[in-house]
Parts: sequence; structure tokens; C-alpha cells
Amino acid sequence: MKLKVIVLLILTQIIFASVIQAQQKATSPNVIIVLADDLGNADVGFNGCLDIPTPNIDRIAERGVVFTNGYVSYCVCGPSRAGLITGRYQDRFGFGRNPLFAPNDPGMGLPLSEETLADVLKKANYKSLAIGKWHLGAHETLHPLERGFDDFYGFLSGGHQYFPELLVLNDPFEAKAQFDGYKTKLLKNYDRVEETEYLTDAFSREAVSYIEKNKDNPFFIYLAYNAPHTPLQATEKYLSRFENIKEKKRKTYAAMVSAVDDGVGLVLAKLQELNLTENTIVVFLSDNGGPEKTNGSNNGVFRGQKGDVFEGGIRVPFAMQWPAKIPAGLVYDNPVISLDIFASVIAQTKTQVSTKNQLDGVNLIPYLSGKKEDAPHEYLFWRKFDAKDYAVRKGNDKMILKAGSEEMLFDLEQDISEEKNLSAKRKVQVNMLTGDLKKWESELLDPTFTGLMKDEEYNANHPERFKKQSK
Ligand code: CA
Repeated sequence: MKLKVIVLLILTQIIFASVIQAQQKATSPNVIIVLADDLGNADVGFNGCLDIPTPNIDRIAERGVVFTNGYVSYCVCGPSRAGLITGRYQDRFGFGRNPLFAPNDPGMGLPLSEETLADVLKKANYKSLAIGKWHLGAHETLHPLERGFDDFYGFLSGGHQYFPELLVLNDPFEAKAQFDGYKTKLLKNYDRVEETEYLTDAFSREAVSYIEKNKDNPFFIYLAYNAPHTPLQATEKYLSRFENIKEKKRKTYAAMVSAVDDGVGLVLAKLQELNLTENTIVVFLSDNGGPEKTNGSNNGVFRGQKGDVFEGGIRVPFAMQWPAKIPAGLVYDNPVISLDIFASVIAQTKTQVSTKNQLDGVNLIPYLSGKKEDAPHEYLFWRKFDAKDYAVRKGNDKMILKAGSEEMLFDLEQDISEEKNLSAKRKVQVNMLTGDLKKWESELLDPTFTGLMKDEEYNANHPERFKKQSK
């Protein structure tokens, strides 16, 4: 009798578990965030690029939405990624600088007070993979597998060599200086691997394989290509597509963007093959504006570039598809920010999930489906702590404060290139926005770690920066 009850109980549990699984399969969308690195705003077809065809990236825009006023929360790599992966302004937790590559420093990266999108999706039974550039800490406690991801394929530094024969360091402790981080062999979870492909192709391959392996459960892939960040390196396969571009830098850059586009094509084709297109959210964006002089990128009509709080530093190519909920061919003009991805995604999971920390992002889906008609954000804010640069956008007004220069106020609807400073004529608005900015800043922390700009000073204070510590 007892045995029968136990068998019955087990059976009930199995049935219950499979019902839950079936429900999740039916409704929890898969999520793929494709993050390009230092891609110029005008360097994708959907933003009018003519010399670099990006048919696959453009397909995301055609099947879903283009954000014409899509921003990131910072104008360089590390802090922008920290914002995206937490859904919070990164200065709330002191990530106001690019971190150094410091494998012995648990404080150099994303603080453990923060939850990542992978942490939260784990509560809804997702499997998560981080690919490519991490840049949120090189210490073992900050590794992607400690931050909610089930799998990782990539590197921990802020950039990397693209040709596998240049990856010669067996572990971070063989590094002698900051940029040696670019030469470490890739990590598959905690193990070093001998990669044989061009880096961008390798990352695309890993994404496709993960989709295949996880086709029966909800998955999240953070596909963080380091392309087209420097060093400018491309294979003949991609370079040969750009005989028409004579300028060497632009040509190599174009080839690198083309490799990313091919990767997006492979990912989309795999989703199609497995019938997953309808219920997979695919987001494409860059982590900051193009550094035009460094990598040959083009930010189009926007003023400034990577590192600036002008539009060229923070307004990025940004598109998203989710055929189940987002109408195809949508062009969305209200300002949105990379922080919104987190909030949008976690609102869609079948299992309700809560977050530990308050989010700054907004669930965009009701705005895209037409349920909500107002703007998702009253304000967007930026702070570049070391330079004492600030920006705030409210409606079409954008104010910029820079140390040592007068206040700037631009009307982005009339003046997309931020050329006509209206601050003298509209003093009241300047004062109000300054007050709003100060209020926002009062909620922020100063950076909690020394940044990339203090490399030498850090070395002097940490003579054992790259020495393997005994446990
Ligand atoms: Ca970047």
C-alpha cells in the first residue's frame, strides 16, 4: 500500500514537472542579445549604410523594430555592458569606468551586489550562454559562470586578437601588462581551448550550436562579439568582399562588420530551421558609438564618437525582433536605452520572476505592440565620472554639461547634429534639467575601482597584479 502511494506521488510529480516544462516551452521566449563592439551608428543597412551590406542584421529590423533613438548607458565598453547586463545605470553600483584586466582583483568588475539578466532568467529555468567579450571582471569570482550563466565561450579582457595563432597565453597569469589580456587562449567555461577559427566565426559557431542543444528549453544567449573593436584584423574571406573600399582602415573594418553580419545570418537561419523564430527575442545593438578615427567607423550625422556624451558616443544601431509580439517593419522614435532590454525580457517569462535590485529600464513590449502610447522614459541620463561630463535627455531637449565649457542645450528634433546651442535663450530649461541631473546623481556611487586610464598607477600599487596567488 505504502509503495503504491509513493509510486503515485512520484508519477504525479513527473506529470506536474512535464506540464510546467510544456507551459514554459509554449510561452517563455528564447532571448538572443547580439552586441557589436564600437560599431558606428551609420554602419548598418537599416541606418542607411551603403558601402557595407548587412542583409542579415537588417532582417532583424525588417521583421521587428528599429529604434531610431536607441541609446546605451555609457560611451565606452565596460560600463555600457554593466548597464545592459543588470538593467541599471551602472553608476548606481560604482561601475563608472572601464575596468583594468586584473585577474587577482575581486573588486575590479561587476560587484556581487548586482544580479545579471542570466541570474534572473535562471529563476525561470532558462539555460544561459555568454559568448565573446566579458569585460565585467577577470577575477575568478566575477567569471560569467559565477554570474548566472551556465556556459561561457570567450575571453575576460576588454578586447582580443582575432587570429587564433595570436592567442598564445595559457592563462591570465602569463600576462605582463594590460594588453596581454588580448592574447589569452579562449575559455570554454573554466578551461582554455585551442581555437582554430577567426574569432568572430568561432563565436557565431558557438551560438548556433547552443541553439541546437537547447531547442527544447528556454535559452538566453549573450552574443557579445568584440568586432569591430580594434585590433583591425580580418580574413581574406571577408576582405575580398570590399574591393571597392580603398581606404585600408575602412576596408578591414567593413570586413569585420561583414563577419558579424554572417554570424547573425547563421543564428537566424538556425532559429528558422528549428522553428524557433516566432518565439525568440533577438536584439541587435552596439555597446557604444564608433571611434571613427581609430577603427574607420561612421556615426553619420551625429556629433562626436566613442567616449563622448554627444549623440555619436551613445546613440547606437539598435533593432529587435520578436514575431510573436512585435509587429514587423516598426520604426520606433521615442528614446529607449539598452537598460530596457533586461526589463523587457524578464516581463515575458512564463514563471514570474522578481529582481533583487530596482531596475532603471522599462518593459518596451507594450509600447511596441501599441498598448501604451506615451514615451517609455521621461528622462535619460549619462555621466562620465572622470571627465565630469553629463548629459540628460527629456523629450527632444538634450542638455550637456562639460567641465570647463558653458552649458549646452540642443533641440534634437531640429538639430540632430547638436550644433546650435540654445542654452542662453532657454536658461529656465537649463536650470530645470540641471536640477534633474543633480537629483539623479545623488543616487549614484563614485567608481569603486581604478580604471583603464590608471594602468601605471595600478601596477605600482599592485606589484603582484599578474602573479598567480596560492589558494
Ligand atoms: Ca565598445
